[in-house]
Amino acid sequence: MTNLLTAFLKARWRFKHWNPKKIHEFQEQQARKIIQYAVANSKFYRSYYNNKDLNDVSQLPLIDKRIMMQEFTDFNTVGLTKEECLEFCLKTEETRDFSKKYKNFIIGMSTGTSGNRGIEMVSKKEAGFIQTTFIARFPIPLRGRFHLAFILRVFSPGFNVNIGKFRMSYVSPMDTLENINDELNQLQPTALSAPPSMLKILAEAKQDKKLQISPNLVVSYAEVLSPDTEQYLEQVFGTKILEVYKCTEGMLAQSCKAGKLHINEDIVIVEIVDENDQPVQPGTPGHVIVTDLVKRTTPIIRYRLNDIVTIDPDPKPCSCGSQFRVIKQIQGRADDMFLGRRFDTKQSQFIFGDYIRRAIVSTSDHIREYRAIQESPEKININIDLISEFQTPEEQSIFNTELPKKIVKLFEKHKCEPPEVEIIFKSITHDFNLKLRRIIRNFNETNYF
Ligand SMILES: [Zn+2]
Repeated sequence: MTNLLTAFLKARWRFKHWNPKKIHEFQEQQARKIIQYAVANSKFYRSYYNNKDLNDVSQLPLIDKRIMMQEFTDFNTVGLTKEECLEFCLKTEETRDFSKKYKNFIIGMSTGTSGNRGIEMVSKKEAGFIQTTFIARFPIPLRGRFHLAFILRVFSPGFNVNIGKFRMSYVSPMDTLENINDELNQLQPTALSAPPSMLKILAEAKQDKKLQISPNLVVSYAEVLSPDTEQYLEQVFGTKILEVYKCTEGMLAQSCKAGKLHINEDIVIVEIVDENDQPVQPGTPGHVIVTDLVKRTTPIIRYRLNDIVTIDPDPKPCSCGSQFRVIKQIQGRADDMFLGRRFDTKQSQFIFGDYIRRAIVSTSDHIREYRAIQESPEKININIDLISEFQTPEEQSIFNTELPKKIVKLFEKHKCEPPEVEIIFKSITHDFNLKLRRIIRNFNETNYF
């Protein structure tokens, strides 16, 4: 416990007082330790880094989920096989009993949107350290009870928090909405955390008076929080929406009391790079490469995520006092973006999902849910689920006239050939068990360019 208290105080101190130079020095030193450990204890890293300069972290070859999963038995440093870990995970998914450990390790499984599974494995000590850092930076109100209801799709070791006055209740989303509402009404949490798609459903239930809770803290995680959803949630819950950016590979970032999403610079190194894996400047969107500075059970070193993120270029420190870098925007996964064909070069051009989202939601305030699917560089289908039927045919026709025009304009702005846009009115339900995706690209770049 003393160790955790020290970790707690250190986490707070670092967040408030470290400058970029200190952060960089610490990261270099920690990364070297993790690399030495990985090479000494992981068969995979030993051969992967053969003949590489282990002192130059930024030049080590990248890994990704595919490599990690393929090599998981050799990858981990504690001698567990991929098969036994997967078997354990599947069993816990079935029984939903997440309290069990496997040979003293906390193991969870993530299902990526593309269906490929990732294993997250930490020791109790590592989990304790990550949780403590998380709590130390979480803007918890100092007075009164604090009861956080977590609505979690899949079990994730980093989120199983229960320390001191910080109480957490797990609510399974694998249930009917009525039961989830009932459970939350009984728990009366002071804080609520769920993916934004789930928060949106709960906000609707709150507006319908079926859900009667008044959390003073609402946390969004696991999916991109789009500005329109954020605004709606803020309005219904009457509080700022905090964000946690976490993936199987680490607790990357979390909101401060000023609402800025700070990178946890002392537990992860986050590099933002372009298509050729070269670093980009703050303000430019790029792929995320993460190195975890804590986990030794499964060392995550220069691991390429599928996410596109933009770092805030503002050089002024955040008003909370921290100089930890701020993520300005999580644009989403690379396949959540549309691809247009440039009319000048005939090459592919990314169009961020955020622009598509904005074009759709700004068309009408009758939209309950939507899904935009790009079938090819030339064809886009937009499914619209309306809040209520239209009073006049003119109201509905705005979708068929305005929306395709907006999308075409957006493509032209990106110097891309205009696509054909079809609007389809239909009800949209989504599986709580899957990540909600509103922007979907149904083709591979290589097939068209
Ligand atoms: Zn801040």
